[in-house]
Amino acid sequence: MKDILAADWLYYDSILHNAKKIFEFYNFQRIETPFIEKAELFTKGIGKKTGLIEKEMYLLRNKENNELLALRPEGTAPVMRAYLEGGMFNLPQPVKLYYFGPFFRHEKPQAGRYRQFYQLGAEIIGEDDAIIDVEIILISRGFLESLGFSKKNIYLLINSIGCPNCRHLYIKEIKKYYKNYSKQICSDCQRRLKENPLRVLDCKNEKCCLVKQEVPFILDYLCSDCRDHFKLVLEYLDYLNIPYILDKTLVRGLDYYTKTVFEFCLDGEENKTSLGGGGRYDNLAEVIGGLKKPAVGVAFGVERLMQEMIQAGKKFKTSTPKLFLVQIGEPAKRMSFKILEQFRKENIPLGENLGKESLRSQLKTADRLGAKYVLILGQQEALDSMIILKDMASGLQELIPLEKIIFEVKKRLEKTM
Ligand SMILES: [Zn+2]
Ligand SMILES: [Zn+2]
Repeated sequence: MKDILAADWLYYDSILHNAKKIFEFYNFQRIETPFIEKAELFTKGIGKKTGLIEKEMYLLRNKENNELLALRPEGTAPVMRAYLEGGMFNLPQPVKLYYFGPFFRHEKPQAGRYRQFYQLGAEIIGEDDAIIDVEIILISRGFLESLGFSKKNIYLLINSIGCPNCRHLYIKEIKKYYKNYSKQICSDCQRRLKENPLRVLDCKNEKCCLVKQEVPFILDYLCSDCRDHFKLVLEYLDYLNIPYILDKTLVRGLDYYTKTVFEFCLDGEENKTSLGGGGRYDNLAEVIGGLKKPAVGVAFGVERLMQEMIQAGKKFKTSTPKLFLVQIGEPAKRMSFKILEQFRKENIPLGENLGKESLRSQLKTADRLGAKYVLILGQQEALDSMIILKDMASGLQELIPLEKIIFEVKKRLEKTM
């Protein structure tokens, strides 16, 4: 886990700010669900036999009734729970929601991965039309571009994983195919093949990747409903000129996905990095709340986005005030708050170091912060309601009546802008 310091917040804020702009244009509303949920929500919604549930969920017990709780490992199941509990199905459909906040996974330690990490996600609930899948893809792409990633470098991987009606045919085919390779695949995949066969397609093991190359394509096994849906998605993408790569090994790790699944990657120098992804999950509402509500969503790892923004050369600077207030003597020290409040109301940042006494040490702070002007309030100035305005570059000083200082400062700042 890591601390998020001021320099990091500039990236987090920029990511949230850009997401807000584009998602709110498309009528998404912000939602924040609790960090702690009943563990059952995730075991039911995501699936017991997924790595996320088996190994990565932080669990805790409620002392009063021994109920098992979990630190939220992902955002979709809680948003769906909120939708159902809050009766949002009574609103005009679909309901569009987005979130930004910390999530928790007990993952193996690796570079750039944190056990508390931020995710930005969006869900469209209550509509099964293929155009909605494309809407979320289009918005996601726009969001990534707004962060400064170039259109050329972002690419979209897409696949369909069908529905429970047709997926089992494909799973049978997968099992058949892998029978011939049972000695060549890793031990994890041997286990996956028994418990959650689609997950073998997710394996990054070198030997398993070789085996994957000739694996049958799920598109050949889709039922007519799933096939028509996917065909439409691709047609809309073509119409919008959004390039995509059909990826038969893209299955996403969680059980709740149905039909369209997708992932956004960045063309790196050596290998691709995933920025985020999502898909349709038409059965999740039924599994956790007994209500049939088709939905589609996307999620981005904020730390990953930040890392890639830094890689791409995106820089933010922490802003420091151009002005600094120096006070000397008790009367001046007391008056400082009045002056600071005046500047605050005018929205002009003004630095200070009220605990310091000497002119020298205060000027040193001003210099370190890179202040262009320093306001000096001494004993005599405080008595006369005057203040000294010092230009740090030229060293020139002017004596200005206190009631005019805001006006005089504004005049100078406008010039330097
Ligand atoms: Zn199907
Ligand atoms: Zn494997």
